[in-house]
Amino acid sequence: MAEATDVFIAGTGPVGAAYARIILQTNPALRVTMADVGSQDGPVIGVHHKNSIKYQKDIDQFVNVIKGAIQPISIPPQDTLISNLGGQGWRPPEGEALIFHGSNPNQQPLLNLKGSGITRAVGGMGTHWTCNCPVPHENERRQLESVIPGDVLTGLLGEAGTLLNINDDQFDKSVRQIVVKKSLESFGDRVQKMALAVKRRTDNPDYVTWTGPDTILGDVVGNPNFKLLTEHLVVKVVISEGDPGMISGVSLRDLTKKENSERLVTAKAVILCCGAIPTPQILFNSGIRPDPLGRYLSEQSLTFCQVVLRQANIDAIPRGPPWGEFEPVGDAILKHIEDYQGDPLPIPFTDPDPQLMMTYSPERPWHVQIHHDAFSYGEIGPRADSRVVVDIRCFGPQEIQRDNRVTFPPQDLFRQWVPGIQDIYGMPQPTFEVRRSKSDHDNDQKMMAEMTQIADLLGSYLPGSYPQFMEPGLALHITGTTRIGTSANESVADANSKVHGFKNLWVGGNGCIPDATACNPTRTSVAIAIKGARAVLQYLRQ
Ligand SMILES: Cc1cc2nc3c(=O)[nH]c(=O)nc-3n(C[C@H](O)[C@H](O)[C@H](O)COP(=O)(O)OP(=O)(O)OC[C@H]3O[C@@H](n4cnc5c(N)ncnc54)[C@H](O)[C@@H]3O)c2cc1C
Repeated sequence: MAEATDVFIAGTGPVGAAYARIILQTNPALRVTMADVGSQDGPVIGVHHKNSIKYQKDIDQFVNVIKGAIQPISIPPQDTLISNLGGQGWRPPEGEALIFHGSNPNQQPLLNLKGSGITRAVGGMGTHWTCNCPVPHENERRQLESVIPGDVLTGLLGEAGTLLNINDDQFDKSVRQIVVKKSLESFGDRVQKMALAVKRRTDNPDYVTWTGPDTILGDVVGNPNFKLLTEHLVVKVVISEGDPGMISGVSLRDLTKKENSERLVTAKAVILCCGAIPTPQILFNSGIRPDPLGRYLSEQSLTFCQVVLRQANIDAIPRGPPWGEFEPVGDAILKHIEDYQGDPLPIPFTDPDPQLMMTYSPERPWHVQIHHDAFSYGEIGPRADSRVVVDIRCFGPQEIQRDNRVTFPPQDLFRQWVPGIQDIYGMPQPTFEVRRSKSDHDNDQKMMAEMTQIADLLGSYLPGSYPQFMEPGLALHITGTTRIGTSANESVADANSKVHGFKNLWVGGNGCIPDATACNPTRTSVAIAIKGARAVLQYLRQ
């Protein structure tokens, strides 16, 4: 007999966790099974890896964690060419594409989101994310508000704030944050404290606890009805033979077993929260292929640079009273000067990182982060004292276009003519077709100009981290691929994230966001998920 559960959730990232939390908190008697293709890296389900003191002492090292966490999605054969391979090393015959597991002969390099990736781990990207959670500007949620009324959405974004533990005051006692804020006085109110999913530790305030899916799940993991299957690939959802509008369960592959271990788990409700590319991939593989699936894809452009703070602004940090704006950190400065008399910097080694942002505005439609944090790039190494280095990242929206999309080749067809075109997990290989419009390019140019203006006020460029556009996709904020909406011609799911045409199938994640946004998406996706979870509960009550 097949395994049975009430609610099956695919994916254990922040969004899957939000579904599990709301559902089990409201009705602890329901059996909830979560499955993830990734492994569980520690005893706590979905904990943020940056909570390790090791990384909080040496944030640079976290760059390697993120690098290791992101697997590329689509690699065109051209990208694998080694043009300077000399000597007798093996090279493919001239004119033949190099095809190996994970490379995609259908990918046009210019239309690729080369920097995009998937994190396959229990907790998903929630185990490494930066935790910036601004509320989207009204222009960034126009489409969403045509699906979920504005007041309802505002309430949900507030609830998401609670679930994610969002605070903007946990880095107030940062010498550098005060320095940066002062340097950017000419920007006025535009410079705000970052809304971060984080809480300073009370047992040792030198460190913080970043929100991971563990925070979102809370104590529901202790419920005996909660079950987690790790290293289980959700291959497809299974449509009921008697009713084409019902899902009877999911087909799972236990990756730890060698052969043919696909098995059915039956469920009353199925929720797919596997990220903006794997979620439509599972639907596609299940034969659920509505025209909008994978379309309206929108990904943010990303500019980046790092600066070393201005000499004059560091010299202006008072070494004793009167402290002026430095009052909140005066004691810490004094103690540092006393403890480390040879240090030319009056900045404590445990000084909280600066965490500031400038959010989207109609005049400047992009999102700016002025902070010091680790990404998959931008490690400082021994080049500079990391206490004087500040990162600037700007995220630019992408106009919504129906033809910007991810496609999946039909599995049976390609098996005949191009072997190996599945992804490394044997799922249909995603192919990107994404173009930035002229207005996107114009906006990106202005965004870059503002970044350099901010950089100039702050200091001078760290060699090697000059202003640059990063690889498309590196923002890791893809939206739209399973967008919610009112019409089945233009969306995959309804206002409750329930897939059009199905009674018991839901989707969650950034793919549900129907807008072109510049802000970070997770808060919005969690807000949409809270509404979806209530719809699941309502359905199960009937
Ligand atoms: C470096 C970095 C910085 C970021 N910073 C921010 C930020 O500051 N603010 C912000 O809002 N967002 C940020 N993000 C993005 C944020 O992490 C994501 O928006 C968020 O994690 C999305 O949650 P999710 O649950 O939808 O998907 P994910 O976190 O991607 O989780 C999806 C889960 O599904 C699993 N999965 C995939 N396919 C399958 C399958 N077939 N079967 C079973 N399981 C599957 C994966 O293993 C994964 O655990 C950042 C991400 C990174 C990597």
